Amino acid sequence: MTRREPPRSNARDIERYAALFSSRTQVMKSSAMRDMMALTQRPEVISLAGGLPDTSTFPPETYASVMQTVAAEACAQALQYGPTEGMAAVNDCIHQVMAAEGMSVSDEELLVTTGGQQVIDLVCKTLIDPGDVIVAEAPTYPGAVPTFCSYQADVVQIPMDADGMRVDELEETLDRLEREGRRPKFIYTIPTFQNPGGVTMSLARRRRLVRIAHERELLVLEDNPYGMLRYEGEPLPPLYALDGGEFVIYLGTFSKILSPGIRLGWAAAPRPVLQKMNIGKQAADLCSSSMTQLFVSAYFASGDWQRYVRSLRDVYRRRRDAMFDALAEHFPREAQWTRPEGGMFIWATLPDYIDTTDLLARALRENVAFVPGRGAYLDGRGGSSMRLNFSGVGEDDIREGIRRIGAVVAEQVAL
Ligand code: PMP
Repeated sequence: MTRREPPRSNARDIERYAALFSSRTQVMKSSAMRDMMALTQRPEVISLAGGLPDTSTFPPETYASVMQTVAAEACAQALQYGPTEGMAAVNDCIHQVMAAEGMSVSDEELLVTTGGQQVIDLVCKTLIDPGDVIVAEAPTYPGAVPTFCSYQADVVQIPMDADGMRVDELEETLDRLEREGRRPKFIYTIPTFQNPGGVTMSLARRRRLVRIAHERELLVLEDNPYGMLRYEGEPLPPLYALDGGEFVIYLGTFSKILSPGIRLGWAAAPRPVLQKMNIGKQAADLCSSSMTQLFVSAYFASGDWQRYVRSLRDVYRRRRDAMFDALAEHFPREAQWTRPEGGMFIWATLPDYIDTTDLLARALRENVAFVPGRGAYLDGRGGSSMRLNFSGVGEDDIREGIRRIGAVVAEQVAL
């Protein structure tokens, strides 16, 4: 088979297509992380940029035997379309994962999705008209930024401290918005091991946030990919458990406890909201992959899924600790970083004269990558911060990667 050379596009070509683009494309923003994926996949680069779980820890024998079971018992179904809301067999797995974090839900309140990312998209599709307000944390998940932008939302960001979102500031902001006649469509939060901040919302703030949602009748989108990845401290109840299924839309995913390659997540939401999301999903992709839904169901049936999660916790805890040690050794005294009790990310902030977007270009020359902080804000802030991932590479690479970043930072500090 022959492949065509990619055509060279000139300015006129670009213009010709641009005339056809929707107005939405003018505010669409590329994801800071996705753009970097191509660069950081070069084998010589130590990437502390992605949010990658270490899939090399998953036993290939288990993969083979689970696939074998699917082939033997459900081949035709695996190759077929499935219902938009997801297969009943996956719901059983979702119930187990949610129960492990203290939540219960009915099948009627569940929608299986193509990754948790699709939940963010469907919630926006269901709730956001151009100009509508979304309240989010500052910084927020860099992968949600392109979604919010493509629905032309006005994102208002609330600062965080070591106890998560400053709920007092949230209330002040809600009061101000109310005076302006603007009612946020939802509050987006990652309360546990926040991406990118690495902080966890305290129990008192969780309770207060849920109370605010009830008092003001506001929806909250609780994004919780990392709740099961706790390395120290006591688990806290998810907002969904405190709310009782009224105002909290819950986002769950198999990405971080099993595999992101299977692209399966779910939403648990009040039924009227879920029904609209279901229609949105029909338009987007008809249904999520039957093959990977059956994979998950056969995997859960084959043994103790929590054992693998425990093994991940051991691996990631050691990597996190290696990163803490390396930061203490190689970052300048003026730098600060968060101390996550779980999850995958540390958020480091350098002296404010250092711009981490510029720093990344230098770091890439040294074959090391991180996510510059600006991608986690919608208003250009975050310029001296960076997100560092500690789950995707081994301890030696973490130490070497932080040493290299520390060296390029030192050059700047010395200037
Ligand atoms: N939300 C957050 C906070 C995340 O970190 C991620 C993955 N990086 C997602 C949602 C989406 O994950 P997935 O689509 O793989 O479930």
